[in-house]
Amino acid sequence: MIIAPPEAEIMIIVMQSNADQEDVDRVVERIEALGYRPSVSAGEETTVVGVIGHSSPDQLASLEFLPGVDHMVQVMKPYKLGSRDFRPMDTVVSVGSVQFGGNALTIIAGPCSVESEEQLWETASAVKEAGALVLRAGAFKPRSSPYSFQGLGIPALHMLDHVRQQLGLAVVTEVLTPDDVDLVASHVDILQVGARNMQNYALLQEIGRSGHPTLLKRGMSATIEELLMAAEYILANGNPNVILCERGIRTFETSTRFTLDISAIPVLKHLTHLPVLVDPSHATGKWTFVPAVAKAGIAAGADGLIIEVHPRPAEALSDGAQSLRLDRFATLMSQLQPLALAVGRTV
Ligand code: PEP
Ligand code: MN
Repeated sequence: MIIAPPEAEIMIIVMQSNADQEDVDRVVERIEALGYRPSVSAGEETTVVGVIGHSSPDQLASLEFLPGVDHMVQVMKPYKLGSRDFRPMDTVVSVGSVQFGGNALTIIAGPCSVESEEQLWETASAVKEAGALVLRAGAFKPRSSPYSFQGLGIPALHMLDHVRQQLGLAVVTEVLTPDDVDLVASHVDILQVGARNMQNYALLQEIGRSGHPTLLKRGMSATIEELLMAAEYILANGNPNVILCERGIRTFETSTRFTLDISAIPVLKHLTHLPVLVDPSHATGKWTFVPAVAKAGIAAGADGLIIEVHPRPAEALSDGAQSLRLDRFATLMSQLQPLALAVGRTV
């Protein structure tokens, strides 16, 4: 069941200055016929007609072509449940005892992929020791090449489940298809929607219905509004537990794998009440740049980080070049402490 957003003024139709009463009446009639409420305001020079309703501005586009109409202005944002207008206070997404969006920063760390039980244990224990509360690791990998390592699949889910129970870490892993949502959700605490799947609406709907906490990554060529519309799919399908992630976007720059859109963090915090994380690993593609970009994300107001860590990056089956060694991750964690304090947060 879809949660209908509240009724509000969604559009304003500005009439031409020479439009007559007949033109205005026609617009009003058409608005009512489409199931919306009109609100006419006659000014000195121009008349404007407000359109009040729940959403679906698509059908309203035809109004622009009625005689006497000059132009239309969209008033309400296309996303509702995720907007600050709808919920001014920050949402805190709770996953067991771990919180996203509260005063404390939440750090997720782990390998790009689950490669073996040993590799997972070694990494998980080390990141826990360093202060991470959540373990990341892919079981199903969305690789750009069909010839690259695709992940261990279901056996990896069992390993993740085992590790989370033994070590008491929350676990996040990516789910690629709607059919796998229940399976993946039964083994991990947080579902991840990857950049390549941000606009897989069937997947978003199924995740919405599941109610499982979800980390939604921004598509590499998606605008902030498109990210918020993707989040809206999950929210509108009944799942309020959405955590957003800025992971770098495509630009002309080639020195880094992607370009972290640093301003997306304050923009998102302004537009939405949902928690926002930063992924400095996929954004940069090179481990040397990860600590600086991680710190920049925190300074810009992110609620936490998701960082790739591997005991032997040179041997990693995916994303080794951007993975921090265990000791380097521990160093970064200690450097985050004073930074968090400086921005009024704790780690
Ligand atoms: C990942 O987290 O390993 C991953 C594939 O990230 P993204 O979807 O942001 O590329
Ligand atoms: Mn990766």
